[in-house]
Amino acid sequence: MAENSCKRLEGKVAIITGGASGIGASAASLFHQHGAWVVIADIQDEPGQALAAKLGQRASYARCDVSIEADVRDLVDATVAEHGRLDVMYNNAGVLDRPLGRVLDRPLGSILDTSLADLDRVIRVNLYGAFHGAKHAARVMVPQRQGCILFTGSNCTAIAGVATHTYTASKQAVVGLARGLAAELGEHGIRVNCVSPYAVSRTGMSGLGKLSEDELARWDDGMRVISNLKGRVLAPESVARAALYLASDEADYVSGLNMVVDGGYSVVNPSMM
Ligand code: NAD
Repeated sequence: MAENSCKRLEGKVAIITGGASGIGASAASLFHQHGAWVVIADIQDEPGQALAAKLGQRASYARCDVSIEADVRDLVDATVAEHGRLDVMYNNAGVLDRPLGRVLDRPLGSILDTSLADLDRVIRVNLYGAFHGAKHAARVMVPQRQGCILFTGSNCTAIAGVATHTYTASKQAVVGLARGLAAELGEHGIRVNCVSPYAVSRTGMSGLGKLSEDELARWDDGMRVISNLKGRVLAPESVARAALYLASDEADYVSGLNMVVDGGYSVVNPSMM
């Protein structure tokens, strides 16, 4: 896409967790294209550093495991020390609880073969990570009296049966966190929203099961058929554009929203159970 003449995040400083891959990498590129200083935070150093180098000026990479509070605290502190402010905290890092390869073979895992350790692993990244990001962003944004906190949810927050119960629970909790914080932080001029995508193929998450090209193509074909927008698969860039809107001043009165980016799937399939 050509350099945008209308820079919707000009002068803003944004942290994007899980920014080295998939939706987060798309958001980092788009936010950067729209004039933001982007800090790509992830545990995958190589792709994170490569993306920051590709973006060039106004981009950097920082290693941060969002499940560890001290990592997130240091990330926010280092960003503010360098830039003097934090405008957008996009808590996007997330993990699935089981490889998609298994999901392809057997649509959903049963609670009967899910351990507390499985639940814990997902909650630590998806919920604790979101909590740490929001908490340390708020620590900086409250005195600034402005800021935008964003989360990545999932369409499983709008429709049952599209992801495992464990992942669904983690993402429902993220939406609850977003709504609660929108209520709490509004008086400080801070907006809090969530973007909840439908299945996006070819992100790191979908490759988690080390799917072959054939399996990915089969997955995309399946998505084209079941999509409400027949024939179309959801690209990470489409999710990033929703996040861009919510991060920008165009959404200056939007807070507490769970924006489901699913082409209307959850409207026409209110439950898959
Ligand atoms: P992805 O695997 O490409 O990106 C996730 C990123 O998070 C990776 O770069 C990974 O290294 C990073 N990450 C994982 N654990 C981390 C940790 N502890 N600390 C810091 N970073 C960590 O997958 P994606 O599909 O782009 O996922 C992005 C977000 O979108 C996730 O929250 C995911 O749950 C959500 N989501 C994805 C889909 C989909 O179909 N791909 C659908 C709905 C929601």
